[in-house]
Amino acid sequence: MKFLDEYREADSVQRLADSIARTVKRPWTLMEVCGGQTHSIVRYGVDRLLPPQIELVHGPGCPVCVTPLETIDRAHAIASQTGVLFCSFGDMLRVPGSHGDLLQLKSAGCDVRIVYSPLDALQLAEAHPERRVVFFAVGFETTAPANAMAVHVARKRCIANFSMLVSHVRVPPAIEAIFQSPDNRVQGLLGPGHVCTVMGTSEYEPLARKCGVPIVIGGFEPLDLLEGIWMTVRQLEEGRAQVENQYRRAVRPEGNPASLRLLQEVFETVDRKWRGIGTIPASGFRLREQYHAFDAERIYGVGDLRTEESTVCISGEILRGLKKPPQCPAFGKECTPETPLGATMVSTEGACAAYHAAGRHLPGTPEKRSAS
Ligand code: SF4
Repeated sequence: MKFLDEYREADSVQRLADSIARTVKRPWTLMEVCGGQTHSIVRYGVDRLLPPQIELVHGPGCPVCVTPLETIDRAHAIASQTGVLFCSFGDMLRVPGSHGDLLQLKSAGCDVRIVYSPLDALQLAEAHPERRVVFFAVGFETTAPANAMAVHVARKRCIANFSMLVSHVRVPPAIEAIFQSPDNRVQGLLGPGHVCTVMGTSEYEPLARKCGVPIVIGGFEPLDLLEGIWMTVRQLEEGRAQVENQYRRAVRPEGNPASLRLLQEVFETVDRKWRGIGTIPASGFRLREQYHAFDAERIYGVGDLRTEESTVCISGEILRGLKKPPQCPAFGKECTPETPLGATMVSTEGACAAYHAAGRHLPGTPEKRSAS
């Protein structure tokens, strides 16, 4: 397939892997931040092409994975109410809350639907004025503009039966929290390509300077990932900590100005709790005051709901790059994609799901041997 296969071409992949091997002199731990990058790395075996000095750990860039349990429980509390038509993307419906997942609510008779865009939810609200339509808005800066647009349009058209349960998160504060944690292992970062198509690269400059960590904004195909790793390793070996852009075909330094204006109009930053990590200052978006009439958390009074996380699941340590899925005792045993105990096994972008899909839970794989 043109424009895709060229980023997976075997000879070029090998040449880049050889360049990395020639460049690296010391051991380095690198983190890729996006769930999409994690999946490509595991699916194409990019990590297995690297010299032994380089370890890849997986960051908190899967939106479903970092949505706190209590937010899932808030979604359940809203979706259970009479007259509510609750919509979200498919992944969110399978994430277990304290009392099961949203699909179980659906099978119990609640009106829970999968949509492919927040604008689909808005259309449902217009088509069913007698119903109260709630869209579960989860994700990073990448999905925030579409959600902002839905609320913006709802306000403009006075669609009063539409609201949004917002649990948006921002990448830079989470990365800073990881870099500044006393147990941090990450020495170089493959930055979030899709997020930066919206936000640009300027937020990452002070982060690289302050924390002394090179950040290379990277793409998602094998050649993107290997080139990004090579650029990161080159900086580390030369003692530099700068922001570089490997994903130039999609990311401009200034981002997408129209999306940025919309985000600024609809959302304000807020402290946000991340699953397995805790509360990170200024790491989320919430609706501004002029959009409070569309804020489901306020309308349904579920903001005070609190829930304790499972003690079995180590996804918090995985999301901070401290451990990998095969180090979880439940991985591939009690916890599988069919019976997920934690969000990193539910989402198609989660690290545990990626390792499982690639068969890395099976006896005899290198990961399985080193974890046992
Ligand atoms: S394998 Fe399951 S229980 Fe273990 S960390 Fe991953 S999601 Fe959590």
